Amino acid sequence: MIAHSGDGAEDTGQEGALVTRRALIGGVVGAGLLSVGASVHNVAMADELSAAGPDLQAGGHAAFRADAPQVYTRSQWNARSPKRPAKVVGRAPDRIVIHHTATANSSKRSLGHAFALSRKIQAWHMDRNGWDDAGQQLTISRGGIVMEGRNKSLKAVQAKDLAVGAHVLHHNDHTIGIENEGTYTKKQVPGRLWDSLVEVCVWLCRSYDLDPFQAIVGHRDFNNTACPGDRLYARLPELRRSVAARMDGPSDANNATGGPEAPIFPPFDGFG
Ligand SMILES: [Zn+2]
Repeated sequence: MIAHSGDGAEDTGQEGALVTRRALIGGVVGAGLLSVGASVHNVAMADELSAAGPDLQAGGHAAFRADAPQVYTRSQWNARSPKRPAKVVGRAPDRIVIHHTATANSSKRSLGHAFALSRKIQAWHMDRNGWDDAGQQLTISRGGIVMEGRNKSLKAVQAKDLAVGAHVLHHNDHTIGIENEGTYTKKQVPGRLWDSLVEVCVWLCRSYDLDPFQAIVGHRDFNNTACPGDRLYARLPELRRSVAARMDGPSDANNATGGPEAPIFPPFDGFG
């Protein structure tokens, strides 16, 4: 297991629809797509599918019916091997911790940009912070693309376990962390990112049987940090309500809250 390349990529035993989905796109964007979900509104993804061919696009739309978001695996973003495999504890987390990456509010929405972001965060956490791997379990780009962070995270969610990360000091053993690309001290969250964040939280609350009003918190609720920024933090009550409504109601993810804002490019100052 140690130094196995791309933990999370070799997952097997997915349900039939997912296997079909994986087989469908496997040759185009890489094997190992773990799950698909109600991401039809994700324009960035639709663009990628469209570029890959009409058959793929049609199949993709047909498959976007499940209750889990599409999460790109570590092998897909070409993660480095962790220094050590993540510790997995046999219990669900009780908190979902919302972060911002404190990086540029990029206007780029592509898969390539999102994958590069994941690689950059992993390199920062391993090389600058000296951690075993990327600290957070999940990452969402400003284009709404959802990616696995720390190794073993996706399998752990599916098993209702927790792959222990490094994202909230003194509270890593009972929390799962989501890094949202951007800096939300003054700027608003792009609609695509927001929609994916709602989807991811619905998925996690369902998987772990969590009450969104209890479970969803900001990094600053645990540590002395500005993360996830005043703007994103101020929307956590709305996030909890949206997640709760989705869990109670039909699986209609398409409650977009508006398009992306004009991009700015603040100096790179780390990953929150
Ligand atoms: Zn944070």
